[in-house]
Order: sequence, then C-alpha cells, then structure tokens
Amino acid sequence: MLQHSLGHRRRFARAVAATIALTSFSVLTATAQNYEGPQPPIIDVHVHGSMGAQPTAQPMCPNEPGFAASDPATQESANGWVKVACSNPIVPVPPAEYLKQVGADMKRLNVTAVVFGDAASTAKYEEAAPGRIIPGTSFNAPGRDATFLPIEQVEAAFATGKFKVMGEIGLQSRGYSPSDPSLDKYFALAEKLDIPVAIHMGTGGSGRANITMPKFRGSLGDPLLLEDLLARHPKLRVQVMHAGYPMIDNMLTLLQANSHVYVDIAGLVWSYPLVEVNRYIQRLVEAGFEDRVMYGTDLGESGWEGLMAYSISIIQNAEYLTPQQKRDILFNNAVRFYRLDPSKLAK
Ligand SMILES: [Zn+2]
Repeated sequence: MLQHSLGHRRRFARAVAATIALTSFSVLTATAQNYEGPQPPIIDVHVHGSMGAQPTAQPMCPNEPGFAASDPATQESANGWVKVACSNPIVPVPPAEYLKQVGADMKRLNVTAVVFGDAASTAKYEEAAPGRIIPGTSFNAPGRDATFLPIEQVEAAFATGKFKVMGEIGLQSRGYSPSDPSLDKYFALAEKLDIPVAIHMGTGGSGRANITMPKFRGSLGDPLLLEDLLARHPKLRVQVMHAGYPMIDNMLTLLQANSHVYVDIAGLVWSYPLVEVNRYIQRLVEAGFEDRVMYGTDLGESGWEGLMAYSISIIQNAEYLTPQQKRDILFNNAVRFYRLDPSKLAK
C-alpha cells in the first residue's frame, strides 16, 4: 500500500511537472501567435483641435450604464451620467502633455486623423503627428453662442487649400436645423469647392440639456432634417457626425435615399451603454451600409486621450462584424469619403 502510494505520488509529481511545462509552453505559444505586430492603418474622422484637459475635466468610465433622474427641487448636477467605478477610467491629460501623447498614440496605433479647428491649432497637431493630420474648419464662431463667421472669412480660410472638410458644424445645440435657409450660403460654398461637410446630428445634452443647454433640441438632431439641404445641394457630401444617434430609423431612411451621406460613430462609441452602441452599429451595417460607417473618437476639450485606443477596440472586438467590415469602418470608408490616396498616408 505504502509502496503503491509512493509510486502513485511519483507518477502524480511527474504528471504535474509535465502539465506545468505544457501550460507554460502553451502560454508562450499563445503570446507569440496572436499578435501580428504593427496595426494596419486607421483613420479617425472626428478629432477636435483642442490642447488638452480643461482644469475641470474628470476621469471618465467609458460606456456608462445610463442617465440618472434628478429632482428640480434639489441642487442638480450639470451632468446626468450615472456615476460608476470602473477598472479602465480614461484620465484627462493636461495641456503640457496632451499633444505629445496624442502624437505618440497616433503613431503607435497607425492613425491618421481629421482634426477640426482653426489654422493655429491644426498646425500644432501637424507638428505633433507629422503627415497624419487632415485639417478641417467650421463656420461656427468660437464659443457656444449661435453666431457664425462672415462668409468671406470662411471663403478665405478654404481658399488657402489647407482645409479639406467643413466641420464640426454644430447647429443642434444652437437651436438651428441644418436646412435653415440662413445657413445655406456656407453649404453652397462647400458644394462649389467640392469640400465635404461634417455636421453634428443626434447626441448631446449629457442627460441634463434641460438644465445646461437652453437652445439644445433633441429634435434638431433628426437626420431627416438634412433632406432639404441635400435636395438643394445634390453634389454635397455629408458626414453625419455621431450617426444621428439614437434616431436609427430616420438615419437609415436618409442613407437609403442619399448615397453621398456617410456617418461617423464618434462620441457615441464610448459614451452610451455598450450593448446599445453595438446594436446601433450593427443595425447600420446589417441594413446594408457597411460602406458608409466611419470610425471616429470626438477627442476634445476633456483631454481623454486614451479614448482613441479604447474606441478602436470596440470595433475590433465587435463579434457581429467580419474582418473586412472592421477594416471598412476603421479605414476604407474614410479613404473613399475623403478621397484619400492611401499610399500618401504616413506609416
Ligand atoms: Zn459633435
């Protein structure tokens, strides 16, 4: 019995040793075989030319689970996102470090970005990420008021040839429809110059527009409000920023009727509950628009630079997308919409 037991123990010890060896071998093999090396190129079609976190910026847990109700009889927070603890908070990067980190991230992740801002801010991005910036500028005057730049000034900015897109055009939070006749001159200019326009449609308010944004209207984010504008300007190419979220049916209606319309998933991809985000993107793709969905982040004043890598991973991990559809969303669709030459992009 004793003899048997010792023999058994020896055999058991050998088996354990073999298992350990096998396990470490498998781990090593797995490490070696699932990483292919540098990323294929990616285009982020929605970055703002801001210089890093505002002093008030806070760490953020991406894909918050929802919005909190509040009582007007109490001191209400200006931001209605449900507060949660998370293992992967995105930390605001202060101005001294921001552009350096954005530039390093873009190189590491092989990203070229459409950056919206004025001549000075987009030039700083070009310094931080040489050869990786496609500059865009808008006709919104700086700040959050509903004032717009004189058309001559906008025309002069585009006459330099530096800016390749007109955006971010922010009208919903200022109480305007994109088809408002008073704004038509800007869109006529874009059509004449054959410059695409990028218009904010849909998201916004952070759960408390009723308190903080008196001119914001959810209804002014309806993608179908673009129809009159598109009818007036049949050659206009439109990037619907934030994909008109959450108005999926009207977004699909517009996409079905107008083949010059693309969407970006910026902001929405990391903001809303993850199941909901994936369902929205899946709906766009399964309705037949896999060649119109473009990846974007909406990096901006909050300085949440880590959002670039995080947002890419949402697409890369989407089990409902084929490898080809992932490449289309991360790269090919933006190449087509912006008429880019992939051989000229930085590597
Ligand atoms: Zn926006």
